[in-house]
Amino acid sequence: MFVAFLGTGSALPSVDRANTSLALVASPGAPITLIDCGGDPYRNMLRLGIDPARVSDIIITHAHIDHIGGLPSLIESYRIIDRTAPLRVHAIAHPLQVARDLLQTYAFELTLHHWPFPVELYELQPGVPVPIGDFTVTPILTEHTVPSAGMRVVPTATPQGPLLAYTCDTRVAPMIPGIALNADLFIAEATYPRGSEEAAHRVGHMTTTQAGEMAQAGAAKALALVHLSLGYDAEGQLRREARQSYRGPIFIPRDLAILRLERRARQVRRLP
Ligand SMILES: [Zn+2]
Ligand SMILES: [Zn+2]
Repeated sequence: MFVAFLGTGSALPSVDRANTSLALVASPGAPITLIDCGGDPYRNMLRLGIDPARVSDIIITHAHIDHIGGLPSLIESYRIIDRTAPLRVHAIAHPLQVARDLLQTYAFELTLHHWPFPVELYELQPGVPVPIGDFTVTPILTEHTVPSAGMRVVPTATPQGPLLAYTCDTRVAPMIPGIALNADLFIAEATYPRGSEEAAHRVGHMTTTQAGEMAQAGAAKALALVHLSLGYDAEGQLRREARQSYRGPIFIPRDLAILRLERRARQVRRLP
């Protein structure tokens, strides 16, 4: 199983980091499941050297613009390249309604009914595992400023693992160590640096050190930090701050980094 970081930044994109978005692939050449769709995932997939048409499914964690704002333009790109395969969009009720509204807003250009490929919307129920693409995904509600769902993900073909866990946007909350529990890779948002805990809590985010605490509390086997406000020059700082609370391997992925999850997560050069 592979995870590609199409973006690793917070809501405000920077030279280094696009809005956080993940691409999951169960095995070489398999369909891609995209998690979140802010910014320009189509271009980021091209930059990664993968065919954006391989995306079969998109999971939207919540309705903030940095996670859903790129959906209409991604669909428009697929129209231009004459996609015919269905595109499935999965989300809990609130972001799913926003996705529907966005598509309606662009109904003069995109419509769900007069379209060369079907766009299918599926509602996720918190706590209920569901097959999405090549994966079985269990969405778990977190605590953000709008309804938001983190998740635990395993390849359906190998339910014993590897297990990927993702917080999406959230403040520190009791369910987060449960999301991280024994994950082979725990991807945690760390919007703020250490010392900004109060501000982070107020706006529904975590700091680097809090992300480490959640990983340690859940005994996650490796930690990757995303939704970062600081650029590549702060990698050492981010790692040190997470190290204050987490003892396992820490990744501070750059945009377009790819991790392979087997017995342990490690970085590879190409998404197969
Ligand atoms: Zn965000
Ligand atoms: Zn958010």
